[in-house]
Amino acid sequence: MKLTHQLFCLVALLSLNNLSAEDLDKGSDLNTVIQGRFNPATHKNFVKIDKKYTPKSGIYLNNEAYDAFIKMRESAKKDNIDLNIVSATRNFNGQKRIWERKWKRDKLSESVERAKKILRYSSMPSTSRHHWGTDIDINSVASAYFLSKKGQKEYLWLQNNAKDFGFCQPYTAKGEQRKTGYNEEKWHWSYINIAKQYTNHVRENFTNSHIHGFLGSETASDIDIVSNYIFGINKDCL
Ligand SMILES: [Zn+2]
Repeated sequence: MKLTHQLFCLVALLSLNNLSAEDLDKGSDLNTVIQGRFNPATHKNFVKIDKKYTPKSGIYLNNEAYDAFIKMRESAKKDNIDLNIVSATRNFNGQKRIWERKWKRDKLSESVERAKKILRYSSMPSTSRHHWGTDIDINSVASAYFLSKKGQKEYLWLQNNAKDFGFCQPYTAKGEQRKTGYNEEKWHWSYINIAKQYTNHVRENFTNSHIHGFLGSETASDIDIVSNYIFGINKDCL
């Protein structure tokens, strides 16, 4: 009798909000994925990257983004360009390890300055596009590499062709078009069909107050991570 009553209340509540149980599941899954609070090794939408595409072992991507990358890679190969994934999905814990290593290294700056220095290239845990499984780093994460002849050629190919496979560069050079956010990253490309859904979900459901659980997280609101970093991207990727 009690269970029937609870069930009735649940159904009434769901219809009241005009949401099906499926919608609710989808919503909660988007919340966990955008914040990286999941394990890509066991998530149904994620696939392990084959070792022929990456020098790393045990790294994962969203399955649609993975298929798109393989198509792009094959096309690049025909132009004698070799594209390999050097970083893909990093969950909250992985990003926390990176962030806190950098946080502990800098003992002199006061907390907001300390966070801003890390934010030149690294995201706060729960705010990284690498959580989503849609974003990859290609060939190198060193700016100097993309000044080499080989790196320049690869970047030019990506600039001309990546959009045909659904990829966009979120961290272009800063200036009029992109005023805030991380420094330029020529290696970071985002599979935009899926990433756009996550960006829209962040816009509706995520605020600076959701950023917590690591050293220095109290600086998130002062810096306004959501406006200045999550949305501090190339407008073509929005
Ligand atoms: Zn990246």
